Amino acid sequence: MNLDLTISPLRQWVDFKQSPLVIAGPCSAESEEQLMQTCQALQHLKVDVLRAGIWKPRTRPNSFEGFGEKALPWLQTVRKELKMPVAVEVATPQHIELALKYDVDILWLGARTTVNPFNVQEVADALRGVDVPVMIKNPVNPDLALWIGAIERIAQAGITKIAAIHRGFSSFQKTKYRNVPMWQIPIELKTYLPEIPLICDPSHIGGARDLIGPLSQKALDLNYDGLMIETHINPDQAMSDAQQQVTPTRLEEILSELKIRLVKSDNAIFINQLEELRAQIDNLDQELVELLGARLALVEKAGEYKKENNVTIFQMERWDEIFRSRQQWAEKMNLNKDFIAEIYKLIHVESIRKQTEVMSRTEAKA
Ligand code: PEP
Ligand code: MN
Repeated sequence: MNLDLTISPLRQWVDFKQSPLVIAGPCSAESEEQLMQTCQALQHLKVDVLRAGIWKPRTRPNSFEGFGEKALPWLQTVRKELKMPVAVEVATPQHIELALKYDVDILWLGARTTVNPFNVQEVADALRGVDVPVMIKNPVNPDLALWIGAIERIAQAGITKIAAIHRGFSSFQKTKYRNVPMWQIPIELKTYLPEIPLICDPSHIGGARDLIGPLSQKALDLNYDGLMIETHINPDQAMSDAQQQVTPTRLEEILSELKIRLVKSDNAIFINQLEELRAQIDNLDQELVELLGARLALVEKAGEYKKENNVTIFQMERWDEIFRSRQQWAEKMNLNKDFIAEIYKLIHVESIRKQTEVMSRTEAKA
């Protein structure tokens, strides 16, 4: 572990704010040549950490499941020759033991591990007393608490360098993504655990080469701390995830096209204008809350009338009419009608809750 690395494996936990951390490398280590050729091409790019899968959790049996321990010396050679830190996915105590034996610098938990608390706990127990950075991918299902729980289990084992990787969530519905991003979940994670660096894995979210650039930009626009991008010297021939891997040359283009946004600006005019806009937004928000309050007061009255006249709270036609007309109004205002539909679903839930409260209140009096 005492190699003189040109890029410290700790960079992401120290000064990665200067530029996003970039982790790149093949989905799987397929041979020493494939790994060396890919990583050599990445060495001169803005890549901080090399990645390669050794143990691949595959959905169906009889798929390529990685070369296992046999591939670890390949990774060790690449690390030593290129003087770059390497990261692998681990899912069992045995994987951890082997990865550390072969000098792997950074470990990560895959989505199929994070999803299972027994599995995460086993991994956490194996990490006790070890000082290694660990990255934790989101679980396959959109469950923020499960993701936080996995981070907590690893932190409780004494690991201090923890990062989260957003790789999207699986969905039964067909979408243009392999795994739907649901950006609000990682953003909520960041709000809850602001000190944990957040890395985007556009490869597993997109599942397609042409989505890597736009997804990476979106992540940077949302102030992510880094990117993990699957890169292969010959993606079409890859033994796993061929459609989503890019060549090192393509990765260089993607990285050079990315716009790095500032978190803050010192420009006085900008600050002033932003403050003015925010003041206007605050006023509108206050009006919105007041309007919602006034609306709810009317709903409460309607609830009382319904009770007096012995009529049910929920009236299907009325709800259909509200839902349809509000979306029409939204379209006329050039607003996204799905956005308005979501808001009205929430308003409706609150209206029903309020009227149920009214009904039971008068019921108690009677
Ligand atoms: C991977 O990074 O190659 C991988 C298997 O990812 P995930 O756990 O996100 O499916
Ligand atoms: Mn992969």
